[in-house]
Amino acid sequence: MKKSLMWQIVGAFVLAIIVGLIFGERTTFIQPLGDLFLRLIKFIIVPLILSTIIVGVTSAGDMKKLGRLGGKTISYYLVTSFIAITIGLVAGFIFQPGTGMNLETNGAAVEPNETGGVVQTLLNIIPINPIEALATGNVLQIIFFAIFIGLGIQLVGEKANTVQRFFDGFAEIMYKITGIIMTLVPLGIFGLLAPVVGEYGLSVLLPLIKLILALIVACIVHAAVVYSFAVKSLGKMNPLDFFKGIFPAAAVAFSTCSSSGTLPVTMKNTQENLGVSKETSSFVLPLGATINMDGTAIYQGLTVIFVAQYFGSQLSISQLLTVALVGTLASIGAAGVPGAGLIMLTMTLAAVNLPLEGIALIAGIDRVLDMFRTSVNIIGDASASVVVEASEKRRNSSGPAAEAS
Ligand code: ASP
Repeated sequence: MKKSLMWQIVGAFVLAIIVGLIFGERTTFIQPLGDLFLRLIKFIIVPLILSTIIVGVTSAGDMKKLGRLGGKTISYYLVTSFIAITIGLVAGFIFQPGTGMNLETNGAAVEPNETGGVVQTLLNIIPINPIEALATGNVLQIIFFAIFIGLGIQLVGEKANTVQRFFDGFAEIMYKITGIIMTLVPLGIFGLLAPVVGEYGLSVLLPLIKLILALIVACIVHAAVVYSFAVKSLGKMNPLDFFKGIFPAAAVAFSTCSSSGTLPVTMKNTQENLGVSKETSSFVLPLGATINMDGTAIYQGLTVIFVAQYFGSQLSISQLLTVALVGTLASIGAAGVPGAGLIMLTMTLAAVNLPLEGIALIAGIDRVLDMFRTSVNIIGDASASVVVEASEKRRNSSGPAAEAS
C-alpha cells in the first residue's frame, strides 16, 4: 500500500511534467483538479491544528514535561534554522548567482517594512480575538490559543475532563479525514504541478537558472548533512528510512508550496512511517509548520547574497551576521503559505539596506524556489519530531530514577 503510493506520486510527477510541457500555458485546464485537492487539505487545517495542539499539551502530562518538550523542540528549530541560513549564504558565495546578470526589474516598487518588523511580528502571535484567528486561519494565533486552552484544561483538572475528551475525539476524527484525503494525493500533485510546468517552461527559468540551482544544491546539502546527522545520531533512525517515510509529505509540500497545507500529511507520515507518537507529533509538527522553516532560511541567505551581487554591493562581516539573525527571524515569522518567504525577504533586505527592488527580480520565479524550500521546511519539522521522540523515549526507558532527577 505504502510502496504503491510512492510510485503513484512519482508517476504523477512524471505525468505532470509531460502534460505541462506538451500543453504549455493551456495546461491551466487541469488547475481545478489541483484546486480540489488544495481545498480538501486546507479545510481540515484549522480544526486539526486546534484539536491536536490541545491534545498535545494535555497529554504531555505535567508542566515540567511540557516545558521540556517545548525547550527541546524550539532549540532544535533555532539551531537548524541558523545552520540553514549559513548554508544559504555560503551557497551564494560559491555559486555567485547575481553576478554578470542583466535583468529588468520592471520598475516594480516595493514598500519597505511591508512585514511590520520584528516586534510587530512577535506581538501579532497573541490573538485579540481567538474566534477571528480561527475564522481567518491565522496559524500562529491558533497555536497560541490552543496552547492556552491545553494549559487551562491541565490546571482546571477534573471539571475540564469533558472538554479534554471532546478534543481527543475531535483530533481522532481529523486524523481519519486526513486519511481519506490522502488517497487523492497523486491526483492532487498532478493537478497542481502540471499547470506550473506549463506556465514556467524552461525559457522563464533560464535567466535565473544559477539562483535556482544554487537553492536546490543548498537544500540537498542541508537535508543530506543536517537531517541525516540529526535523525541518525540523535533519533537513532536510518536516514534513508527517514527520507523514504517523509517522501509523500515532501511531494505534497513541493506541489502546494504550503507547510501549513501539508501539515495533515506530515502528521500522518511521521506517525505511520516514522513511528513518532501522536503525543510528540501533535506538539512538534503544528509548531514547526509555522515557525521552523529551514528551506525559507536557506532562501533568505541565498537571495540576499544574490541581490547584493546584482546591485554590486559588498556585505561586511557584521552585515552578514545581521542577515543570519534577521533571516532566521524572518523564516520564523513567515507563515506556512505560498510566497510568504518572498514577503519576509523585505525585512531581511531592509536590515542591511539593500534595494527592495531585488524582490521584483526574484518574484517571477519565486514559485519554483518555493517548491524546494517548502519541501525542506516540512522535512525539517519531521526530523525534529523524530529527534524529540527518541530523546523522550530514552528518558522514559532510563526509568523512574531519571524521572525523579
Ligand atoms: N511556502 C513556504 C512554506 O509554506 C513559506 C515560504 O514562502 O518560504 O513553508
